[in-house]
Amino acid sequence: MNRRMEMICIGNELLIGKTLNTNANWLAGRVTALGGVLKRITTVGDEIDEIKMAVNHALQRRTRFIIITGGLGPTHDDMTLKGVAEALDLELVVDEKALEMVKAKYEAYFKEGRMDRFELTPSRIKMATIPEGAEPLPNPVGTAPGVIIDVKGSLLIALPGVPSEMKAIFEESVKPLILENAGEGLFFEKSIFVDGIMESALAPLIDEVIRENPYVYVKSHPKGEERIPHIEIHFSTLTEDSEVAERRLEKAVNRMLELTAHNR
Ligand code: ATP
Repeated sequence: MNRRMEMICIGNELLIGKTLNTNANWLAGRVTALGGVLKRITTVGDEIDEIKMAVNHALQRRTRFIIITGGLGPTHDDMTLKGVAEALDLELVVDEKALEMVKAKYEAYFKEGRMDRFELTPSRIKMATIPEGAEPLPNPVGTAPGVIIDVKGSLLIALPGVPSEMKAIFEESVKPLILENAGEGLFFEKSIFVDGIMESALAPLIDEVIRENPYVYVKSHPKGEERIPHIEIHFSTLTEDSEVAERRLEKAVNRMLELTAHNR
């Protein structure tokens, strides 16, 4: 089963330090919890060539899920689908289903009195203009639909940059696909905190735990200062069986506790 995933975050605001890339952090946690294995996060600006290159590289790595965020909106600098279409050598076309979704949103806004008149302007039609053969994904909280394209077994999924919209489309349309693909393979984790041992002194102990527990990933995260060490040790494992996960994690954690107790 191919669980390999990558993320491409698009937006100049991410590259100039104006916006913190919370979408990447949130998605990384979600896809991991659902049993996916995220291999890479790439951030590029609103430039067609950069987007095209990032998409092509992710496809070359035979990535099962490529999740793109940002640049789906109505403004001129929203380039994502243009870049995707060029990368795949596809035309951009107004998609009937996507147009219905966008139309329904603006009709509802008009009925709610949020707009003076209902009109499908070119900027609004742009949100329904997607690569030929792609499927639109409904946006439960905003206007621009997400987009999914199957490229020879790689699922390319484009989501809006606005965090609430990205999360809503992910939960409704992307999560079920990831679960289907990952089977029952889920991510299990546990943390312990160790005080008073420097990270450099902890390193050989962690190495020993890793050697004895090949299915558990162990990583230290310093939280305090080197003079007052306070370190989180994070244990994680990927398996289809929660009992196996529990056993694996318990064994590794207990060994770590034993080793740290001897080294104080
Ligand atoms: P819109 O329809 O609003 O134009 P969009 O898909 O075009 O949505 P962007 O224009 O790229 O999205 O971003 C909209 C807003 O979402 C940005 O102003 C920024 O505040 C936020 N945003 C974009 N990308 C991210 C990200 N990776 N992490 C956190 N916030 C983000």
